[in-house]
Amino acid sequence: MRKSLAIAAALFSLTAAAKEPKNIILMIGDGMGPAYTSGYRYFADDPTTPVVESTVFDQLLSGMASTYPDEPDTVVTDSAAAATALATGHKTYNGAVGVDRQKVALASIMEIAKRQGKSTGIAVTSQINHATPAAFLAHNENRSNYNAIADAFFDDRVDGQFRADLMFGGGSQYFQRQDRDLVAEFEAQGYHYVHDNAGLAALTALPALGLFADVALPSAIDDKQGPRLAALTAKAATLLAQNDKGFVLLVEGSQIDWAGHDNDIVTAMHEMKDFADAIRWAKDFTESRDDTLLVVTADHSTGGLTLGAAGKYQWRADFLRKVPHSPGVIATRLGQEAEPVKALPALLGFTPAKDETEKLMNAKGEGDEALVKAIKRLIDKRSLTGWTTTGHTAIDVPLFAAGTGKEAFQGLLDNTEIAKRLIALVQPGTQGSEQLVKDKQQ
Ligand SMILES: [Zn+2]
Repeated sequence: MRKSLAIAAALFSLTAAAKEPKNIILMIGDGMGPAYTSGYRYFADDPTTPVVESTVFDQLLSGMASTYPDEPDTVVTDSAAAATALATGHKTYNGAVGVDRQKVALASIMEIAKRQGKSTGIAVTSQINHATPAAFLAHNENRSNYNAIADAFFDDRVDGQFRADLMFGGGSQYFQRQDRDLVAEFEAQGYHYVHDNAGLAALTALPALGLFADVALPSAIDDKQGPRLAALTAKAATLLAQNDKGFVLLVEGSQIDWAGHDNDIVTAMHEMKDFADAIRWAKDFTESRDDTLLVVTADHSTGGLTLGAAGKYQWRADFLRKVPHSPGVIATRLGQEAEPVKALPALLGFTPAKDETEKLMNAKGEGDEALVKAIKRLIDKRSLTGWTTTGHTAIDVPLFAAGTGKEAFQGLLDNTEIAKRLIALVQPGTQGSEQLVKDKQQ
């Protein structure tokens, strides 16, 4: 009895002495405020069962995060400032990529990981030099300097090393330009370049550059070809895990935000599914081993999305599930139809009422932009979806964690605190913020 108690106590202290994770997977749903994760739960629900099934977000929810930037006049952040906070532990001004208000470069978790001998990677559905990944891999005073940021991915090194061993996403138009072919330059430095499903599948070693679109990847709802984010995440983590010293991987569901800006609920829900698929893969990977931490959050919320409108106590996710294409694709296809009114039910996934059809046809007469807008407003009306803005909002975002060390990511944390705690794990024995020495390289 006494002996077995002693063994139990020893086992307990072993498990209690929390092991530090060797690998970190940080996943950011761009624009993914709480209304998006709630909406996705109803959107993903199996209507044949009486319960609302829990999503991967529900299973991993651990807290909330505040997101305000270093701005005198606003508490609403943009993606660049929020990504800089999540990458460096420092707040900055809207538009800043990995620099503070004085335009001084801030060391990112990727740079700190490289100095620790870890491998680093990014997998995103935007162009890889877009604000969020850029804040982890570059320093620039303005997120719009796309070519300069792409150049920096190659030109700027950490102790002679590239900041990322793996980069997956879109953006070949920025990396293969008239004035510079960065793809060829990366290949000359040993990077394996891939640009389609076959190339991705055949990839077995780092370093790697995968550009699967000229700019961003197609919207998930309209993309029948891939690769999608789950495939990019799986390949990235599998390759990065070849390093015995561990890795840091950033994954971004980049276009949830874009659908939010567009006030486009159908496209938003499919982007959420794409991101959830990637998180499910990362959760399984993380929970199948004892050396990996998975943290998921958002940079801010977008659109002021809300579930319920027009004074009714209803939000119709079942209706959204029927819509087969994005409003943009519906509008384009409608324009190609000889008899558009007849084509409407199949294109929309539901039969519009007479007055709804009239509104759509009037909008079609005004041009493509008016038609897309009319389709979106009809879907909002039918699903009872509300929006307050085409910009961002200041509400806190959800925080999720799994795996080794997840206990440190609970409750309400500021976005900078998430970064500080992650950085402290990458460089053990520090308090995170203490060793965020400002780089003087730019
Ligand atoms: Zn945005």
